[in-house]
Amino acid sequence: MTTILLIYTGGTIGMKEDPESRALSPFDFSQIMEEVPELRKFAARIDSYTFDPLIDSSDVEPSLWKSLAELIKEKYDLYDGFVILHGTDTMAYSASALSFMLEGLSKPVIFTGSQLPIGSLRTDGKENLVSAIEIASAQTADGRAVVPEVCIYFNSLLLRGNRSCKVNSSSFDAFHSPNFPALAEAGINIRYHHDFIRSNASPGATLIIHTALDTRVAILKIHPGITAQVARNVLCGKGIRAVILETYGSGNAISKPWFTDIVREATDMGKIVLNVTQCLAGEVNMDLYATGKALKDAGVVSGGDMTTEGALGKLFFLMGEFPDNERVKTLLGKNMRGEISK
Ligand code: ASP
Repeated sequence: MTTILLIYTGGTIGMKEDPESRALSPFDFSQIMEEVPELRKFAARIDSYTFDPLIDSSDVEPSLWKSLAELIKEKYDLYDGFVILHGTDTMAYSASALSFMLEGLSKPVIFTGSQLPIGSLRTDGKENLVSAIEIASAQTADGRAVVPEVCIYFNSLLLRGNRSCKVNSSSFDAFHSPNFPALAEAGINIRYHHDFIRSNASPGATLIIHTALDTRVAILKIHPGITAQVARNVLCGKGIRAVILETYGSGNAISKPWFTDIVREATDMGKIVLNVTQCLAGEVNMDLYATGKALKDAGVVSGGDMTTEGALGKLFFLMGEFPDNERVKTLLGKNMRGEISK
């Protein structure tokens, strides 16, 4: 019998409407079997762990990721898989960060949640939860996990966590991974795309957790009309070690000297400036246009086809591990957890 730890951090999925006030509030998760009796049909033992306090995921902080990593490490030998119930708003950030914090993963860590509370009639939460548990329990004939990765399962799609982003605030089809194919699709059966699933950690490999995150990162989205003052405040700001520059198209920004000069000022100060595209799909190529080339010449590092969420988690992790910014810059371009195409 497989064993699954269901970890509840908060979010819409675990809320119930108060019949009188009609307001949503978290329900006692120890009663999950009453809310979702379908779970009894699993040939798996499902234990649950509830965080206290439960939070709307808009309030997620890296301390929650640290607690999650430590919990998974503590319980790692006791369970075959982990399902994390999490609000949708920052799920892609949490899944990205966890993918870097958990090294040598040989078991599934599946994030899921829902757009409607699990207690409501038209909820998407039941299907998401039931399928996430099925995926976390799935094993090959020789007892290996089918999906030894940090993933998001949502609306029939299993996506690599550090490739995912929330693309819709109101549809059930809320998560996509535009730069990487789905790892599985749930229809009548769950169809796994084994060619895309990472399988580098051998079963029984030791899980190493990295919890020393350095969060001194700012995100600057380039837009027409951005002023030199705003650009300088962010790029050269005190207490900022790295800036994620969300650029146009394939990595382009303002070509005027005032902007490139500020970028160079930042890199001369030793800061890491990482270029990711603000497009939903595609990649940065700083050799394509003169404007991209100017950024490259000013010392900007390419983020390839990483999502902003993936880039943020990777920077937090790398900067927490390595005090040397040059080392961090080199590793940013390397594929560490399937977050970037090479
Ligand atoms: N605001 C909620 C959260 O992210 C939304 C949700 O769960 O879907 O916690």
